[in-house]
Amino acid sequence: MRVTFATEAAPGRPNEDFVAATPDAIVLLDGAGTPAGSESGCVHGVAWYARSLGSNLIAGLAQDGKPLTEILAEGIKAVASLHDFVCDLTHPGSPSATVVMLRRTADTLDYLVLADSVLVLDTLDAAEPLVVCDDREALVGAAHRASMDALPSGSPEHTAAHRKYVETLRDHRNRDGGFWVAATDPLAAEQALAGTVPTSGVRSAALLSDGASRLVDRFHLATWRQALDVLTGSGPAELIRRVREAERSDPDGSRWPRGKTYDDATAAFWTFS
Ligand SMILES: [Zn+2]
Repeated sequence: MRVTFATEAAPGRPNEDFVAATPDAIVLLDGAGTPAGSESGCVHGVAWYARSLGSNLIAGLAQDGKPLTEILAEGIKAVASLHDFVCDLTHPGSPSATVVMLRRTADTLDYLVLADSVLVLDTLDAAEPLVVCDDREALVGAAHRASMDALPSGSPEHTAAHRKYVETLRDHRNRDGGFWVAATDPLAAEQALAGTVPTSGVRSAALLSDGASRLVDRFHLATWRQALDVLTGSGPAELIRRVREAERSDPDGSRWPRGKTYDDATAAFWTFS
């Protein structure tokens, strides 16, 4: 069993992704919710939120065998209690995060995916990997992003449109018919995609924040299989290097319209013997 990971902030910004591993578990989070100039009701910020929740979750995974949804619900509650006396947790822009959790037990792998980070399982019985991705935010967002995508990335107009886009999506956050993320409501945990597969049927697993998965799902410069090949042959840092190379080749988003020219990128890779 071997775990490797790499994480890289978007240039000039604090890293709002979080990744941690034990010999039997990995968590990966991608903090979200507060573009520059936007209110959140929280004095701590998105990076603090992702680190606090991620630390709580890896501790929960290390200590007991509860269902992953339960560990996540308890983690959301615990982090809320860290700042509900100083921050306004009813604010619609309260810091939030995607969550991917993976835990190995004696014979099985338990997984959980909430919001738009991606889990890729390379299974022995199928030619194509099993990709677990919660696309509800993308489906909601598709109806609201045309004006942002029409503007050149990096321009003041695009920055303003991105802020407006994020603020518009808040009306759909953690609501039925919208999309679900870890924020202040522990009920979000029940909305995660969770499952169990036999460990003996899995060759490897990749956990990717959307800043890393964009090589495949936004830029279409690799298939999931090819991304796994990069991770196997060269490791997570190489996958992120390829993402940055693609981003630099399209600084204004004309080829690949996107909210952020560069995004925090994190990749964790777990190989099973
Ligand atoms: Zn706070």
